Amino acid sequence: ATMPPLLSAIANAGRHGVLVKSAVAMERLAEVRRVALDKTGTLTEGRPRITEVRGAPGHDADEVLALAAGAEHLSEHPLAHAIVAAARERGLDVPRADEFQAVAGHGVSATVGGRRVEVTRPASDGGSAAGTVVVVTVDGVAAAELEISDRLRPDAAAAVRALREVTGTEPVLLTGDGERAAARVADEVGITDVRARLLPQDKVEAVRSSGEPTMVVGDGVNDAPALAAAHSGVAMGRAGADLTLETADVVVVRDELSAVPAVIDLSRRARRLVK
Ligand code: ADP
Ligand code: MG
Repeated sequence: ATMPPLLSAIANAGRHGVLVKSAVAMERLAEVRRVALDKTGTLTEGRPRITEVRGAPGHDADEVLALAAGAEHLSEHPLAHAIVAAARERGLDVPRADEFQAVAGHGVSATVGGRRVEVTRPASDGGSAAGTVVVVTVDGVAAAELEISDRLRPDAAAAVRALREVTGTEPVLLTGDGERAAARVADEVGITDVRARLLPQDKVEAVRSSGEPTMVVGDGVNDAPALAAAHSGVAMGRAGADLTLETADVVVVRDELSAVPAVIDLSRRARRLVK
């Protein structure tokens, strides 16, 4: 027996480790003209590590790191996991936090041992760091900078090339990170259209204003609004961010970015058979 082309394309995608949630989702994949990629967890592996802790003059780096870890240990963000892991690796106790608050695309704040602790993105790019930097503020005073590095996915550059080929348009990088970290990753994967320092809502705006059916590929909870606004929302599955998986039309279960151009190609072949 022969399956209708869209269903057999879904089954085929499944064999390649890509879950396409419906026949409509498969059709929309075939209509995609532009692809917007998130940085963290999409172009990079999404397993950031703290590479340096720079205490401000008069602040003990370990002490500030422990406070930061206390504030972060209730957050789901990959950066939060990295900060908690760094504190534990240094043998520091991670103190309990109260009054925890997370601001999507910005950072966290909490009361830790009676002190007001904030871990956030820096106000401007400044500094000399090439990668991502977050600032730890204790009782309103900048107490340390944490430098973070996250490896590129091994297939990121190849996947970007394949996306350009299959869509015939330039892929776009959308990130909440600073200009410099964004530019470095863009450079390494060959993306020329870069939008940095975007809040989750700015990513939605970028998708809506593109004027073409746009695919968003993302991972974290912060990308859920952009995935929902996209013509086709694709979640890189390993992230395990439930909200993102729910919002997405497509989930890449096999953790490879190259699966994305492959499934667009598959959807277009299926469409040709339908029409
Ligand atoms: P991306 O677009 O790269 O996935 P996000 O939107 O998740 O990035 O976050 C943007 C920026 O906000 C991060 O680069 C970081 O500076 C800051 N940030 C977000 N969440 C946290 C957190 N839990 N702790 C510290 N900084 C954070
Ligand atoms: Mg993200």
